[in-house]
Amino acid sequence: DISEEVTRRTIERTLDQFKITPENIREGVLYFNKQMRDGLRNKSESHDYMPMIPSFITHIPDGSETGLSLAGDLGGTNFRICSVELNGDHTFNLEQYKTKVEKAFMVGTSDELFGHLARQIKYFLSLHHSDYLKSNTEKIKMSFTFSFPLDQTSLNTGTLIRWTKGFNIEDAVGKDIAELFQKAIDSLNLPVRIVAITNDTVGTLLANAYSSVSKKKTVLGAIFGTGTNGAYAEKLDNIAKLDSKTVELLKSRGIDDMIINTEWGSFDNCLKFLPTTIYDEIVDSETSNPGVHVFEKRISGMFLGEIVRLMMLDLHKRKLILQNYEQIEATLRSVPSSSNLLNLTNLPRRPNSKKLSHRILTEWNFTTENLSKIQIDDTKNLKVTELVIQESLHLATTFEDRIIIKEVTTAVTTRAALLSSIAIAAVVLKTGRLGVTLDEKGVLVDTHLKDDVVEVAVDGSVVEFYPGFQENIYRGLRYSQLGEDFAKKIDITITKDGSGVGAALCAGSYLE
Ligand code: ADP
Repeated sequence: DISEEVTRRTIERTLDQFKITPENIREGVLYFNKQMRDGLRNKSESHDYMPMIPSFITHIPDGSETGLSLAGDLGGTNFRICSVELNGDHTFNLEQYKTKVEKAFMVGTSDELFGHLARQIKYFLSLHHSDYLKSNTEKIKMSFTFSFPLDQTSLNTGTLIRWTKGFNIEDAVGKDIAELFQKAIDSLNLPVRIVAITNDTVGTLLANAYSSVSKKKTVLGAIFGTGTNGAYAEKLDNIAKLDSKTVELLKSRGIDDMIINTEWGSFDNCLKFLPTTIYDEIVDSETSNPGVHVFEKRISGMFLGEIVRLMMLDLHKRKLILQNYEQIEATLRSVPSSSNLLNLTNLPRRPNSKKLSHRILTEWNFTTENLSKIQIDDTKNLKVTELVIQESLHLATTFEDRIIIKEVTTAVTTRAALLSSIAIAAVVLKTGRLGVTLDEKGVLVDTHLKDDVVEVAVDGSVVEFYPGFQENIYRGLRYSQLGEDFAKKIDITITKDGSGVGAALCAGSYLE
């Protein structure tokens, strides 16, 4: 059948745009290496290198740490507080409390916001650590995870550059947020001192370094969830953009390394390497930050479902899939709604409509979680895929549609995992811990360090739950300059509690 053959060839051409070859991976690693090195030298923002932000965290735990500390986390909608009692044997006791931040606090004054957060801490202490509230002699150290753009100048000073995610408190912009928060804490006479400002990637690295009993070095903390990012320890001598006084002071205290928050979501913002399809361009144009975070937009949970939605729409317009959706939908409607597999009562009534359901036409309406279900569908008729498309998009599909939708899903997410492996391979090589590194020119050299196996601590629903994501990361690692032998020596370990235990561990970098 000629038309079937033409369809097949057109689909193949569309999917081919998502192919990543071993050569692509090695080229990507070289470029990642260059962008990391340039980012470590340059302070100003640029599309030509990664941000590579010094975290001022210099103590990487080994599991022997002890004591009580607090972690506060203001991410977007919630403020989370936890206390962590480290037992010194890789274990800990954790108390947690989460509260929604009302809109009024997001757009009022800094006194109102931080006053509110301080009152939440007081409440938390009264629940779990009332003895501290009474004694008021000893202060508990607190790390503050603050997920907004900061110009951080020491472990516990950071000037707010701008608000994002619906926050808008003008008087806080340009001020040190730790100072604002500490003032609010002090005015309630709480026994709490903010000693560190940090972020979730750094927390993931520290949490794994503390908890791991394997004696393997944790060389990288990485997030693959809504977004993606990574943090690793870098030699102070390599962080040229740190001011020399800070470096001297740290060295005089016997410190040689500092954790760098790479902000690798911004890898290749100048698009010299990354494969770009028309779908990537549309996704980028739909975001609030077009032209930046372009690596993240090809990798993380917020975007993968959207790429697939746009591809389904395009293939429909080109008359390659979803051509019979109405007819089939009508048949489906006649099925009694008592069938709990096909809940048809939710289907929109669109008699004589020639338009697709509004759901598939709506931006961001198709999640990466849906892709997971399609990916794992091994039923004969791709029944699971049928239900996913029906429930999430209110569309009926033919078996042929479903085969293509599954292929599209696989193409988009395999590319995501292989691109992720570029970041992991490049950072592991940069640390040199496996005995090899890439020098300034991208030449592979021996570092004489010989850790047998290293751990890469990861967190986020995509890396944790997406079927085959980790396998594809490993495949990419083998394609990279690490090759088969070194790729084998990387243990990808799911690590929870980055923003709790990990953040609390940041207090360990505070020097009196
Ligand atoms: P966050 O990164 O916001 O802390 P998560 O790590 O849970 O939270 O990541 C959320 C992202 O992961 C969302 O984009 C969501 O669509 C996606 N996601 C949730 N569940 C799954 C799953 N089972 N498989 C793949 N992606 C998932």
